[in-house]
Amino acid sequence: MSRKEVLEAIEEQGSFDLVVIGGGITGAGVLRRAAREGLKALLLEQMDFSWGTSSRSGKLVHGGLRYIKQGQLALTYHAVRERERLLGAYRRLVFPLKFAIPLEKGKPFRRLLYRVGLTLYDLFAGRKYSSFQSVEELHGEFPFIKRGLAGAYTFYDAETDDARLTFQVILEARALGALALNYARVVEILRDGRGRVRGVVFKDLQGGKTHQVGTEVVVSATGAWTDALDPSVPMRRLKGSHLVLPASRLAFPFACALIHHRDGRPLYALPWEGATLVGTTDIDFQGSLDREPSISPREVEYLFEALTHWFPGAEVGPEDVISTFSGVRGVMDTGKKDPSRETRDYILKERGGLVSVTGGKLTTFDYVAKRIMGKVSRLLGSRRVKEKARPLPWEGGSREDLEEFLCRFHTLVGEGNLEAAELEMLVRLGSVVHLHDLLLRRSRVGLLRRDGGLPLLEALKEPLKRGLGWDEKRWEEEVALYRETLKNYRIGEGNG
Ligand SMILES: Cc1cc2nc3c(=O)[nH]c(=O)nc-3n(C[C@H](O)[C@H](O)[C@H](O)COP(=O)(O)OP(=O)(O)OC[C@H]3O[C@@H](n4cnc5c(N)ncnc54)[C@H](O)[C@@H]3O)c2cc1C
Repeated sequence: MSRKEVLEAIEEQGSFDLVVIGGGITGAGVLRRAAREGLKALLLEQMDFSWGTSSRSGKLVHGGLRYIKQGQLALTYHAVRERERLLGAYRRLVFPLKFAIPLEKGKPFRRLLYRVGLTLYDLFAGRKYSSFQSVEELHGEFPFIKRGLAGAYTFYDAETDDARLTFQVILEARALGALALNYARVVEILRDGRGRVRGVVFKDLQGGKTHQVGTEVVVSATGAWTDALDPSVPMRRLKGSHLVLPASRLAFPFACALIHHRDGRPLYALPWEGATLVGTTDIDFQGSLDREPSISPREVEYLFEALTHWFPGAEVGPEDVISTFSGVRGVMDTGKKDPSRETRDYILKERGGLVSVTGGKLTTFDYVAKRIMGKVSRLLGSRRVKEKARPLPWEGGSREDLEEFLCRFHTLVGEGNLEAAELEMLVRLGSVVHLHDLLLRRSRVGLLRRDGGLPLLEALKEPLKRGLGWDEKRWEEEVALYRETLKNYRIGEGNG
């Protein structure tokens, strides 16, 4: 369905069993589960699908070794189990990723902690992934790593493209009959005299029209925005930023889990889409959520301090950076001094038919969606559709088609192989509304090329104009908007 057709279907249906606000991975997961249970479900996203935190994560599908150290065993257990499940379900989207933990000499306690953590990690996964690598082997893999190490522990997690995973789950929900609309901001939740949800009002940010739909259950999966719709959720906003470096300057055969020598915080560097990703920072965020977050000079300095400490032989600096990206997450505010000590577990609240969820991880989206649907079912009570859970699309044989569909954006745009007719169709069916949707999320050209893909624009122009019905004026506005947006993904040019 094109965006126009989705909007028409919403108007025609008028009311829904469930409305999901937020088109990040959490909202996508809830929508898919709802559709699977036979509910009439609608998802509304104020910007592009995955535009929030779900296109700006560390790309890891992981248990989170560090949460074991913090005693969050249940969170790690569920995340490891989900990692294993996602690896099996999405063979073209979620890939195994080997990690090395370089060990410094003379730190026996830290080494013991890693050993215990990795043993638990293996137990949770139900198979042994961890082992020991000698210092000679480590130097062979990472010639630029610092000297005087005692070897490394190695283990496996997984990585993905978070934006593509989110859109994939939305496409699966659509294949099961759910509706999902991007650039549709919910501006009001309607309630009756007893405070119970009766519907939502949303603004179509493209057409400018305001629409109203009926529903008795709303799931707000609005991440860092959650307290705007439900101020009773105790939230703290944390920003994390990443650097994207060219593999030609810093090649990583596999990932490294590191400790920042200054404050003991965990960091990682990993190979991703042919580049090297380094992150993340973790600091309180006080800025406006209406603007795209971006890396600050302090964060750049912090990440390079760690890179220089661990990989002195690489001699990389800010001038080597291809791009950067920053995301803001909402976590439960327990007043901890160190932001990294706040739990990454999800928070779930319900009041009068409004279920609010925030926190959590990309990795555990389906686990959280299942918990949310438990609450939704209780709220729907006797009105609950008793239909037996329908098979997910891939069980019917079309999951691969959806994965393939999303891969085409990368092959066509990412590799500059611009087959006009196919691109025309892709942008229309791929819910592309703005040029930056195509270049920053459907494909990752804006992150992976230093020039942001600007030289490709001439070739993209005609298929995009035809596919999306743009005239020359709109095309020029889109190019200007893309150039402006790109600044938030470059050092020293964004909001900071
Ligand atoms: C720096 C960083 C690194 C991370 N790395 C990892 C990692 O490696 N692995 C991992 O598992 N997890 C990671 N996480 C966590 C993970 O990214 C988040 O848990 C996840 O993306 C949150 O998804 P979400 O759908 O809840 O929120 P979001 O993706 O932020 O989605 C919320 C959406 O709601 C929309 N919205 C808000 N208000 C409205 C409204 N009124 N109407 C309509 N739409 C609205 C927003 O536009 C937004 O798109 C990381 C997080 C950060 C910040």
